[in-house]
Amino acid sequence: LIGCKKKYSTLSFKDFENIPDLDIFDRASSFNHYLDYLNKSDQLNYRLENISPCGPELFVNKGCDDVVRGVINFVSNDYLGLTQHPAVKLAAMQALEKFGTGSGASPAIGGHFNYHQDLEIKIASFFKREAALLYTTGYTANSATLQCLLKKEDIAIVDMGVHASVYEGCLHTNVKSFVHNDLERMEEVLIRVKDAYRTKMVIVDGVYSQDGDLAPLREISYLTKKYGAVLMVDDAHGIGVIGPTGRGLIEKEDVFDQVDIISGTFSKSLAGIGGFVVARPEIIRFLKFQARQHLFSAAMPPSTTCAISRAIELIDEESHWIDKLRTNVNYFKSNLLDLGFVIGNTQSAIIPVKIGDPALTAQAAKFLFDAGIYANCIIYPAVSRKDARIRMSLMATHTQQQLDNALDAFELMKSKLPVLKQ
Ligand code: PMP
Repeated sequence: LIGCKKKYSTLSFKDFENIPDLDIFDRASSFNHYLDYLNKSDQLNYRLENISPCGPELFVNKGCDDVVRGVINFVSNDYLGLTQHPAVKLAAMQALEKFGTGSGASPAIGGHFNYHQDLEIKIASFFKREAALLYTTGYTANSATLQCLLKKEDIAIVDMGVHASVYEGCLHTNVKSFVHNDLERMEEVLIRVKDAYRTKMVIVDGVYSQDGDLAPLREISYLTKKYGAVLMVDDAHGIGVIGPTGRGLIEKEDVFDQVDIISGTFSKSLAGIGGFVVARPEIIRFLKFQARQHLFSAAMPPSTTCAISRAIELIDEESHWIDKLRTNVNYFKSNLLDLGFVIGNTQSAIIPVKIGDPALTAQAAKFLFDAGIYANCIIYPAVSRKDARIRMSLMATHTQQQLDNALDAFELMKSKLPVLKQ
């Protein structure tokens, strides 16, 4: 292993970010050796090749032995199963037939079509607001918006658990983070930075993607206003999952008017790809002309855009999918708890089964996979070193039998591996 003195088994991906004195080619080669080692020892549970539709059951080629395995899918953010819904697929096919495969340009210079306009109107009114802007990913919705709005005279005050895209958006501004969901720490930061910056922006997720827990949004919006700050909420995992009609945490907490900027993604419950921000019309108009990734990057393709518009309608027309998701989540959580597993404070479709030790968690993920249960193994640097977990994402389209199969696998695992967190 070029340039790296440690043993393979003690390395993580992060160790390869910056090896001193290695140019990009040697750094890449050294990382490739490490990947070969992980693959050979069947530890590369990453970018597995799915060869079936994105449903509750997947056929997966693990790569290490080229054998295709049928597994139950607990790694998808397609929470309502709408990527496979006939009406969503039909909307995509009709758009493909009518408009072709691409939008041909960035929105600023000819790539903005009526189907984009429709989706902007739909997503704004979904959140009871006037204006929205589309981006080609949820990641960009955060990174581009923040990069455009916050400059070196400003400050972002972020929960430590926010998504990587928020941190990227804040690279050119000042950042202070506070301990996850800790209102006292957040208030301390707001007091400390008081008048030292032009704009103070508090940024939180609605649902946190590694723990599935929710932000205390009412209190956060109260404190934000008290100290004259602006509030941005990324509710990527809340849409279609949280709130009486699936509008996310903002609806659950009834803070539509208190949140200044709402961001989110179309790649989870809304069955496509792309992202959006919803904000006051003057902010949206400013972003349309100033956000570099909106100006210089092509607009979403017609099939995806129309599929998402249909998915938004289905959230209201077929609300039973939300009910079914909640039934599945409640059933699965209560059975995991009965088995003695620790699942933290999740209130969403993400269920973290906390194990702690990273090596043991990797073993657990492999055990489950071999038992036909495909779950994510979440270790450092996604979470802190001693907080590794198996992350289960539930879908409305999981059957009772599939959930029971997974629970059986967890029960068996408990008797074979010391996975119950003390
Ligand atoms: N925000 C959060 C909280 C996320 O979890 C993700 C993706 N996992 C994103 C933003 C980025 O969304 P996308 O994958 O659509 O780019």
